[in-house]
Amino acid sequence: MNSRAAVPTPVNEPVLSYAPGSPERVKFFKRLAELKAKKTEVPLFIGGTEIRTARKREIRSPYDHGQVIGKVNEGGVPEIKKAVAAAMKARKEWSRMPFQARAAVFLKAADLLAGDYRWTLNAATMLGQSKNLHQAEIDSACELIDFYRFNPHFAQEIYARQPDSSRGCWNRLQFRPLEGFVYAVTPFNFTAIAGNLPTAPVLMGNTVVWKPSGTAMLSAYWIMKLFEEAGLPPGVINLVAGPSGAISDILLPHPDMAGVHFTGSTPVFHSMWNAVAKNMPVYRSYPRLVGETGGKDFVMVHSSADPDAVAAALVRGAFEYQGQKCSAASRAYIPADLWPRIRKSMKDMLASIEVGSPEDPGCFVNAVIDRKAFDKIKAYIVNAKKDKSNKLVFGGTCDDSQGYFIHPTVIESSDPKSVTMREEIFGPVLTIHVYAEKKWKETLQLCDATSAYALTGAVFARERKAILEAELALENAAGNFYINDKPTGAVVGQQPFGGGRASGTNDKAGSFLNLIRWTSARTIKETFDPPKDYRYPWLGREPKAES
Ligand code: NAD
Repeated sequence: MNSRAAVPTPVNEPVLSYAPGSPERVKFFKRLAELKAKKTEVPLFIGGTEIRTARKREIRSPYDHGQVIGKVNEGGVPEIKKAVAAAMKARKEWSRMPFQARAAVFLKAADLLAGDYRWTLNAATMLGQSKNLHQAEIDSACELIDFYRFNPHFAQEIYARQPDSSRGCWNRLQFRPLEGFVYAVTPFNFTAIAGNLPTAPVLMGNTVVWKPSGTAMLSAYWIMKLFEEAGLPPGVINLVAGPSGAISDILLPHPDMAGVHFTGSTPVFHSMWNAVAKNMPVYRSYPRLVGETGGKDFVMVHSSADPDAVAAALVRGAFEYQGQKCSAASRAYIPADLWPRIRKSMKDMLASIEVGSPEDPGCFVNAVIDRKAFDKIKAYIVNAKKDKSNKLVFGGTCDDSQGYFIHPTVIESSDPKSVTMREEIFGPVLTIHVYAEKKWKETLQLCDATSAYALTGAVFARERKAILEAELALENAAGNFYINDKPTGAVVGQQPFGGGRASGTNDKAGSFLNLIRWTSARTIKETFDPPKDYRYPWLGREPKAES
């Protein structure tokens, strides 16, 4: 109160190495063993109360599906309605709490997560979502810490944007929270997204009903515990679980539904958008619909590119976290003159990759998330093998005997519009189209027009002219465009993230562009010495000229 306290200048959280013998490795594996033994029961969190229901579901590890690691309580209609009531009740105080007090909760959460919570959330992410040491560290530790340190800084910048005032008056913009609750729906593949989607609106004074992915409930539970310890008041974020369609059927048509903060697949976001359109007359205000959705991310290679840099970017970009990043490279256009060299380099690297449990630090590639994903990805591979325009360059093995393991798979397709060049597979499958190097410009057009998505993309070239040509031709093909780098690994505060076309509303998570969507500005004009007479000076006739 009575101060203009500035949020500490944020800096990106350093990524720990987890090298053999490092203290972080010891601490992490100790916590992993504890968490495995604990078999966490995940309740619903409504109005600050943990609620257990009659309907329970087991949580199993994707890399060892015989292993039960906990259970989830699922809610029905009464619990979902209670969650809305709790959010609306908490809104009264939270929306009026000074910004510094709200920001402090998340700055504290960041510090807790940079400390002992790091091992817990990373272990939960490994156990529940099959991320290895590095993938868990960059996601559930570093990226989430960054969201909690950078967002208060961006919010402060938004609040500082004020209009001019002319003499005799004072104009202000008040960045009000939305009038209602926000419905946050999060995907399985990033613990950081799960932790950011409910909190970005909350930082701006909103309250939230949060539905995490059914396959990321263990990490969602520890995120709620982190909020509690950081001092988030009861009811500000209410976690619900259960069949997503049924939850949406209650929340989307609610008159107080003021916004949707979604990340996940394009068809689900379409269904939510349609439901909102259908319910338009019931809402108090036009709901804000913010959604980051699927991708078919490309790597466009020019013949001036460094072939080894291309090969390394493709291996990392396509196969880290089993290709289950929305930004993962999944189609590449390679000039015929470079293909033999890139193919050899990639095959050598891929041959050294071990596929297996993320608990074994030697395994670069681990299991995909669940049976449904395994079956879907396997079907793409089986069908691609049958297609005469395709050649299998590497991999193709799928094994679900113990966990959902799919080996890194590279397909060469002579048809640039084949199914695996166009559709999001969301697994470790990369399709390559080899083009005649003279057809660079045509291939740029082809890349732009092949897929409905426009999330991430990369160009590899040494010639500046080629880089510029790609930058222009692919202007609308990606919301995040990389030059001589893999298309994954956006860092909060450095590469604000989001895509256009079928990939989302492009409201750039981790930037002011996202936070501003959770506000509805009120303009306030105060006049210090208002006029006391309605008449303006112009209202009067010239005196009649004397004749
Ligand atoms: P998904 O669409 O299956 O699920 C996302 C969330 O929506 C989950 O919580 C799920 O339970 C819920 N859901 C499913 N049906 C619903 C319904 N009818 N109403 C409301 N909620 C519903 O996606 P996923 O498998 O968890 O994640 C993978 C997808 O997410 C991929 O398409 C990927 O590209 C995308 N993704 C995009 C970004 C991005 O920033 N663009 C980031 C991460 C993931």
